[in-house]
Amino acid sequence: MRQIDATHDPGLTSWVGSANRPGSDFPLQNLPFAVFRRAGSREPLRCGVGIGDEILDLTMLGAAARGDGEVAEALAACAAPALNELMALGPGAARALRHWLSRRLRAGAGQTEALAAALVAQSQAELALPARIGDYTDFYTSIHHATAVGRLFRPEQPLLPNYRWVPIAYHGRASSIGVSGQQVRRPHGQLMPRGAERPQLRASERLDYELELGVLIGAGNALGEPIPIERAEAHVFGLCLLNDWSARDVQAWEYQPLGPFLAKNFATTISPWVVTLEALAPFRVPWRRSEEDPAPLAYLDSPALRELGAIDITLEVALESAAMRAHAVAPVRMAQAGFRDSYWSIAQMVAHHTVNGCNLQPGDLLGTGTQSGPRPEQAGSLLELTAGGTRAVSLPGGEQRLFLADGDRVILSAWCERPGFARIGFGQAAGTVVAAD
Ligand code: CA
Repeated sequence: MRQIDATHDPGLTSWVGSANRPGSDFPLQNLPFAVFRRAGSREPLRCGVGIGDEILDLTMLGAAARGDGEVAEALAACAAPALNELMALGPGAARALRHWLSRRLRAGAGQTEALAAALVAQSQAELALPARIGDYTDFYTSIHHATAVGRLFRPEQPLLPNYRWVPIAYHGRASSIGVSGQQVRRPHGQLMPRGAERPQLRASERLDYELELGVLIGAGNALGEPIPIERAEAHVFGLCLLNDWSARDVQAWEYQPLGPFLAKNFATTISPWVVTLEALAPFRVPWRRSEEDPAPLAYLDSPALRELGAIDITLEVALESAAMRAHAVAPVRMAQAGFRDSYWSIAQMVAHHTVNGCNLQPGDLLGTGTQSGPRPEQAGSLLELTAGGTRAVSLPGGEQRLFLADGDRVILSAWCERPGFARIGFGQAAGTVVAAD
């Protein structure tokens, strides 16, 4: 479990002025990682850190870190076109780099010339996928989402009996994961229209979003060696936003008996910024279970989990239709949910994923599953928000939605706030639906 330390001091400000603006997602206390190059250039992709409205190019700092072995090693890993090499070094490297950057980016720091010369405006940068994602697994950690969706698909038994014991997941598809800005073509699929006698192949009419967090794995484990829950978070590099686009009509017809397949694997959009577990240390909260629920099996339980195993992150999904965009109407919030309400924690996801000896690798992505809160308006998908496509929601300008329309732009965001600490944010994961072929 990462500790609160000098890098979280709310009194710290930066000589990068935009980092001190109230409401900035990237104050000095955050320092999220990304992979970038100057927009329109043929420069190699490389690793950077967000500070205010800028990206600090980590490949230009080697000389400044000479003599500090751990930091120099971390910076050398950042010359790669993805964060995998840095992730593979484990939490010590990210922590050392965080402390080094925090000291040099704070107001009053000396010898800032090398860092100032390494700043690139985010508005002039092209952000890429933060990691080479070898494998992608999507969990189902919100019991509120699982119950609401289960009620629609199986009214007689909304929550299956294994849910309270097993952190449910399926293996997703890594090849179709894109970064914020992704254009998502409406997929075709096999579906069974209501009342029809045989299925048809046609464009999905029930395209949906899912409001999730992504967990990016740091150091991996060897095949055959499970990661115990006490050490699970040492294998996590950080978190991003994740939109698990879903074709509900395809899903309803195909999902039994093996779970999601083509309803999910046509596109997944993640944010370019990875917020580290170090940055999230001030926002840890106890992980709790209600009295009626069974205690987890021993391999999914630990004193540290119960003390501070959850993280208080607010997630939001907003929508902007093509008409709203044409009339310069701001995106409208569809829902907010809290990751602290998640039934399973990040450490439990990692411990469970590896309990059979399955090996995780640096850059692997674990989705948390749709995060929905206990109240109906906290639904992290349209499927829940519109009660299975039966109750339309209104957009500014009078448009209505049961599911997504062509031209709709879906924007996920998230942030952490706590009295006595600086607010930090995750940036955005946005994607736009384009018409089927
Ligand atoms: Ca999902």
